[in-house]
Amino acid sequence: MAKVLIIEDEKAIVDIIAFNLKREGYQTEEAYDGQEGLRLALQPDVDLVLLDVMLPLMDGFELLRRLREKSNVPVIMVTAREEERDKVFGLESGADDYITKPFSVKELSARIKANIRRHMVDRADHTAAQQEAGRCGPFAVDSELRTVTKNGKPLELSQREYDMLCYFIASPGRVITREELMEKVWGFEYYGDLRTVDVAIRRLREKLEDDPAAPRYLVTKRGAGYYFTKE
Ligand code: CA
Repeated sequence: MAKVLIIEDEKAIVDIIAFNLKREGYQTEEAYDGQEGLRLALQPDVDLVLLDVMLPLMDGFELLRRLREKSNVPVIMVTAREEERDKVFGLESGADDYITKPFSVKELSARIKANIRRHMVDRADHTAAQQEAGRCGPFAVDSELRTVTKNGKPLELSQREYDMLCYFIASPGRVITREELMEKVWGFEYYGDLRTVDVAIRRLREKLEDDPAAPRYLVTKRGAGYYFTKE
């Protein structure tokens, strides 16, 4: 069930909106001033914010500006006057839509539905794009969860192995020297023994190769380094 946060200081209006949205199957939450509104709008379970412009403690524009520093939750601004409405888009406020008072419940509900749907489509596109970007042959990187799967099965990697594999996957076919790996994966100017890299590669191969003795994906380029191939 989608949750709509109503930020509006006129209790009578809040009650009417909440009543009607609940009847349409939404969950609602209410805030009567800008500060409380911002706090609640930043909660991850809010699917849409209905935001009045004129509010005590912090007005709707300021609230939206601060909200947008951290969140892209859909926001419908509720404006009372022509000039407020102009301001919503004139200032590139970050609102997704606006509605002018007085509005019908039917119109409001249609706007809410459209904005929630659009946001979900955007989010799904984003996830799909991210998955596509992290795919390399049988391997897929999920950079949010910091996991790599091979043919859909998760590999049990240490943090460093994950970093190393991602570094290879990011540029398939390019020969990467042990010095470069040490610097990029181990992070700092590491003057350790380069055999550390060889040992790490060997362990990584045991996790991703069908036959670690005859690696197919993480290949040695003799005298130069290693490269990753998805073929
Ligand atoms: Ca108000």
